[in-house]
Amino acid sequence: MSKDKVTEEYGSLVFTDQDMQERLPKPTYKELRRVIDEGKELNLDIANEVAHAMKDWALEHGATHFTHWFQPLTGITSEKHDSFINPNGDGTVLMAFSGKELVQGEPDASSFPSGGLRATFEARGYTVWDPMSPAFIKDEVLCIPTAFISYTGEALDKKTPLLRSEVALEKQAKRVLGLFGKKPKRVYTTIGPEQEYFIITEDDYKARPDLVLTGRTLFGAEPAKGQELEEHYFGTIRPSVNAFMKEVDDELWKLAVPLKTKHNEVAPCQHEFAPIFEKGSLAIDDNLLTMEKLKLLATHHGFACLEHEKPFEYVNGSGKHNNWSVSADNENLLEPGDDPQDNLQFLVFLAFLVAAVDDHADLLRASVASAGNDHRLGANEAPPAIISVFLGDALTPIVDALIKKEQPEAHDRARMDLGVPALPNVLRDNTDRNRTSPFAFTGNKFEFRMCGSQQNLSDPNVVLNTAVAEQCERFVSYIDEHADEDFTTAAMRFVRHTFRDHERILFDGNGYSEEWEKEAERRSLPNLKSTPDAIPSIVKPENIAFFEKYGVLSEAETRARYVAKAEQYAKLLNIEANTMVNMARTMYLPAISAYAGDLATSVATRAEIGVDAAADKATVKALSEGSAAILAATDELEAANAKARELDDVAAEDNAYRDEVLPLMDKLRAAVDAMETVTSKDYWPVPSYNDMLFYV
Ligand code: ADP
Ligand code: MG
Repeated sequence: MSKDKVTEEYGSLVFTDQDMQERLPKPTYKELRRVIDEGKELNLDIANEVAHAMKDWALEHGATHFTHWFQPLTGITSEKHDSFINPNGDGTVLMAFSGKELVQGEPDASSFPSGGLRATFEARGYTVWDPMSPAFIKDEVLCIPTAFISYTGEALDKKTPLLRSEVALEKQAKRVLGLFGKKPKRVYTTIGPEQEYFIITEDDYKARPDLVLTGRTLFGAEPAKGQELEEHYFGTIRPSVNAFMKEVDDELWKLAVPLKTKHNEVAPCQHEFAPIFEKGSLAIDDNLLTMEKLKLLATHHGFACLEHEKPFEYVNGSGKHNNWSVSADNENLLEPGDDPQDNLQFLVFLAFLVAAVDDHADLLRASVASAGNDHRLGANEAPPAIISVFLGDALTPIVDALIKKEQPEAHDRARMDLGVPALPNVLRDNTDRNRTSPFAFTGNKFEFRMCGSQQNLSDPNVVLNTAVAEQCERFVSYIDEHADEDFTTAAMRFVRHTFRDHERILFDGNGYSEEWEKEAERRSLPNLKSTPDAIPSIVKPENIAFFEKYGVLSEAETRARYVAKAEQYAKLLNIEANTMVNMARTMYLPAISAYAGDLATSVATRAEIGVDAAADKATVKALSEGSAAILAATDELEAANAKARELDDVAAEDNAYRDEVLPLMDKLRAAVDAMETVTSKDYWPVPSYNDMLFYV
C-alpha cells in the first residue's frame, strides 16, 4: 500500500525507535531500550555503537554537523555545531562520531546564566545525552537532546531538574500503585502544551525597535478596533497565514512533533498550535522546537512570529496551557471512568493534585513569573495571579459529599436533545469549561493555564511533579500508619480528609471577578501580582527543603534559580527602559518636531496671505507641549533606570524596577501615544497598531 505524504515524511528527520531497531545489533538495541524504558545506566560500548549508527543515519539524511542541544536557564535552547570531519592527513576526511561525543559535551559554561552557581574559574560545563528524547536533524545538524550541568555537577539548565522530578514522581507513584496491587513498569507524566503566538509582517516588525529588542510594543495608541467583534477566534484562517501554518506542520511532522490543532485565537493576528500530548520531558523538547520553527518559518512568508506574553496593549496576550496528567504504563491515572465516586484510585490521585496545588501554590505561582507574564496574569484575559483549582460539575458534588461525609451519588452524563431529529443527540462532557480558572480539571487531565507563551514549561512541571510525589509519599505513610485497618477504609478517609483540609483551594466561580479576589483573601490564598512579589518564595527554607528532599534541586541549585530569575527580570526591564528612552529621543521627538515645524511654517505662510490657520496653530501648540512632556518623561525614566541599576541587591533592584521604573515607562508611553493620535501618519516613525494588527 502506498503511503500518503504525511505518513511518509512523519518523523523522517528523527532517529526513531524503528531506525535504531534496523541499524543496531539486536543486543545493543535491547540494552538501549532498557536504558530508555527502565532508566538503566548506559555503558560506553553501547554508546559507541549507537553513535556509529546515528552518524550513518545522519549522513544519509544530509547532516554534516552534530550538536548537543540543551536548555540553559535563559529558557531557550542552545547549540554549538561540530562537524563530523576527521582529516586523514592526506587531504581526505573520514566522517566520525564517537560514543564519548554522543554522551558528553564540554561547552564553556561561563556565558550562560548560572544564578551565581558557577565561579568564573570553573567555566567548564558538561552536556549529557538524554536518551529518552530522540536525536533529530535540523538544518543539516544532528541535534542530540542533552542535560547541561556545571563542572561540579550542579544543574545549569531547565531539563535536569525536570528529569529528576520525573524520577521522584515515578518512584513515589509506584509505591502508591503497589498498595493498589499494581506493578507498572513505568509511571510518567504526559504534557500537551497549547502554544499561542502573534503573526505580523516582517516589515512592520523590523520597523519597530521595541519589537525587535524586547518582543513587545512599548508604545502604540489604542487601535480603532480591537477584539470586541469576537470575529477572530476560530475565524477563517487567511491564506497567507495558512500557508505559513502548513509549512510549520510539514516541518514539525518531519521532526515527529505531533501537531494536531491550529486555529485563530481571540486577539487579531493571534493564533495557536496544539500538539497531541507526549511524555513530559519530550513534550517540552518538542514545544521548544515548535517555538523555534514558528519564528524561523514565519520569515519564509514575510512574517514575524511574536511569542511574547503581551506584544500589544488593548488586546489579549498569549499564554501556553500546560495540560498535565500522569500515567502508569498505558493507564491514565486521572481518568475518572464512568463512576468516579467509586473509583478509589482516581479519587486518591485527584486528592493528591488538589493538595499538591494548595500546598505549593506559592512555588507554582513563582514558576510562571516573568516580566512578560506580569502583563497577562490577573488582566481579565488570563487567569488571576491567585491559584485555585476548578473541578467542574461532575466532580464537585462528589468532593462536596465526601467532605460532608455523605455518600456521593452517581452522576450520569446528560444527553442533550437538540430538538432537530436529524441532528444526533450529544453527550454532555463531565466538565464544563471555566476559562478563568488557573488550574482546571478538563476530563482526564489538569490544565495549568498561567504559563507564559514564551516560557520553557520545565519550571511549572518540576513543581507539579515534585508536589505530587510528596503527596504520594504522604499517602503511603498514612496507609502504613493505619496498617491495622482495611486499606479501602483508610484510603477513603485519607481522600476525605485531604479534600476537607484543602477545600479552600477549590473554586468553580468566575476567577476574573473582584469578589473572588476578596474571597481568596478571606481564604488566605496568596495573591502575588508581580514577579518581584512571587519569586522570593522560591528560597523559603521549606521550599528549599522540599526540592532537596526529593532530589530535584540542591539548596545551591534552588538559590541559583531564584537569582537567575530575579536577574532576568531586572535585565529585561532595563532593556525595555533603555529601548523606550532611545526610541523617544531618536524617533518620536524628532518626528513630532519635524511635523510641528512644517505645520508652523505653513501656519506662518498662511498668516502672510491673511488666511486663518487657527486649527493648525492649535495642533502645533499641542505638539510642542506634547514634546515637552515626552522629553521630561524620558529624562525621568532614564534617571530612575540608572538608579535601579546601581542597586547591588537583586531583590531591591527588582522592586525598584517594579515600583519606580515601570510607572515611568507607563508615563512615557502615555505621553508618546497621546502624540501619535495628533501627528500626521506621514511623519510617524513606526507602524501603528492599526497598521500591524489587521493585515495578515
Ligand atoms: P482544549 O483544552 O481546547 O479542550 P483538548 O482537549 O484537545 O483542548 O486538549 C488540549 C491539549 O491537552 C492537547 O495538547 C491534548 O493532547 C492534551 N491532552 C489530552 N489528554 C492529555 C493527557 N492525558 N495528558 C496531558 N495532556 C493531554
Ligand atoms: Mg485548553
